[in-house]
Amino acid sequence: MRLPASRTLQLLAAVSLLLGSLALSAGAAAQSLRGSHRAVSRPYRYAKTHDLTFLRTSSAVRRALHEGDFVRLGANPHYVLHEVSFPYVTPTTRLFVRRLAAQYHNACGERLVITSAVRPKVAQPANASPRSVHPTGIAIDLRRPTGKCLRWLRSTLLTLERRGVVEATEEHHPAHFHVVVYGAPYRQYLASR
Ligand SMILES: [Zn+2]
Repeated sequence: MRLPASRTLQLLAAVSLLLGSLALSAGAAAQSLRGSHRAVSRPYRYAKTHDLTFLRTSSAVRRALHEGDFVRLGANPHYVLHEVSFPYVTPTTRLFVRRLAAQYHNACGERLVITSAVRPKVAQPANASPRSVHPTGIAIDLRRPTGKCLRWLRSTLLTLERRGVVEATEEHHPAHFHVVVYGAPYRQYLASR
């Protein structure tokens, strides 16, 4: 049976739409900055096996700071803190932030914006996963930039994730990157460079 030309065109359009959406979903599957079960469970297991403490209260955060388990993120020419209630992280996570921010600033001309650091359990948002590692001080949130800075940040975080030194997730409400720094592998990674 011969199809009328207009019907053939409709079919071709439908096929190309289908192929287009297949290509899109393959692209999305190949990139690993999407939230997933693994993106939550792997940091949680890391924190548990490394005996990290999930701090409950702000006084526990102050104690950890006093004992040197946490350090203040502080001021830096390469990053700014935006409404961070508890600007503290582990020393290795601060080292990561300082290095990433310097490279970011150099590559795209903007300062990195940190929107969250340690969050004791009592200060976690209502929708936070009970397995979030923010209460351990190894995670930070970064505001999602645009344009060149966004491309640089995505590709750098993906590279670091493939090397097993971070777990990075691009979140959408609000738009930010959630980044967990695996301290021991990150220190090894720096030593091997
Ligand atoms: Zn986060």
